[in-house]
Amino acid sequence: MNSRRDFLQKITASAIAIQLPNFVLASCNETNNQHYDGPVLRVAIMGLGSYGNRVAEAMQSCKKAKLVGVISGTPSKIKDWQSKYNIPEKNCYNYENFDAIKNNPDIDVVYVITPNALHKDQVIRVAKAGKHVISEKPMSINAKDGQEMINACKKAGVKLLVGYRMHFEPKTLEIIRMRKEGELGKILFFQGQCGFTIGDPAQWRLNKQLAGGGAMMDIGIYAINGARYMVGEEPIWVTAQETKTNREKFKDGVDETIQFQFGFPSGAVASCLSTYNMNNLDRFFLDAEKGFAELQPSTGYGPIKGRTNKGELNQLHVTHQTVQMDEMAGIILEGKQPIVPVDGEEALKDLKIIDAIFLAVKTGSKVDLKL
Ligand code: NDP
Repeated sequence: MNSRRDFLQKITASAIAIQLPNFVLASCNETNNQHYDGPVLRVAIMGLGSYGNRVAEAMQSCKKAKLVGVISGTPSKIKDWQSKYNIPEKNCYNYENFDAIKNNPDIDVVYVITPNALHKDQVIRVAKAGKHVISEKPMSINAKDGQEMINACKKAGVKLLVGYRMHFEPKTLEIIRMRKEGELGKILFFQGQCGFTIGDPAQWRLNKQLAGGGAMMDIGIYAINGARYMVGEEPIWVTAQETKTNREKFKDGVDETIQFQFGFPSGAVASCLSTYNMNNLDRFFLDAEKGFAELQPSTGYGPIKGRTNKGELNQLHVTHQTVQMDEMAGIILEGKQPIVPVDGEEALKDLKIIDAIFLAVKTGSKVDLKL
């Protein structure tokens, strides 16, 4: 670790003298290139799957957050992670015994990265064990469960954050800055297209019991959340229409494609698409009186690309999960306020909107929202 830090310090110093390409600087900027003596958030990850692995890798470059523990149902993964990340036996748990984390002073927060429908009970158990908790998105599978999670964390006096990594992404934040400072003028229209073609029909993402839905819970939520932070208002109504081309793969309660529309208090409107059956859909477009902003790709792992009426956005690419975890450490340990919230209340708004979208699909009517 130290030699890696020394190397990065040296390479950053040299980069001042000789112009290094952007990607090298980006990787230096998000690592331990500056001496850091402040508090470090000690994190245990629950659910060592695909995204858990990505977060763990990215955390190796964090300066304020450190992976120190695991909670998993798969003993062989625990062994692998122990050797890869130097995790002591006393910080390893399974789903039966993790309440005992209460007696472990070496873990500050548990990051829950399991299938959607499991988040609620797992988050509440972590809160009852007196640890802060980060849940992956969607925070839960409906607003009622989300509210219960918020209540449990409040009662236990722990913080509840949700893995909204785009809230820390530099190009996204630049558009939010432009919008807030009036450079775009009055916002008129947002378009969010989020989707991919999903593979294996046996995976949990296509099982309502574990996923709580289909594409909307998994990928459509980015368009919902994006509409809110790009427009800068909360929607007051929603309409939605569902189409299904494959009833075998996308069973009842597992949405394949939903188009949905929002109205905002200012009169701005949004038109969005969520799908598990089309590729090349990762695009946000914001139209305003004085200009426009576009991100494409808009929510993938990056590099995010974007432009506005003023030209290309050229903020540095960062590893989203590294920046997210450093920023979340600041929120939990130092009470920092993010530019766009990442707390339970923020996630609850998305869940209320998802509930309303499903209701609008079912009834065919416009549904009013009070967020
Ligand atoms: P994976 O299937 O790859 O991993 C989920 C892990 O959860 C499993 O490996 C397993 O880990 C654990 N698990 C516990 N119970 C079950 C169960 N009944 N069925 C399946 N797995 C179980 O999923 P992802 O990592 O892709 O997604 C996990 C969460 O992260 C989801 O909520 C998803 O929406 C979110 N996510 C967020 C992303 C983002 O960009 N913010 C990107 C991708 C996912 P173990 O064997 O260790 O118990």
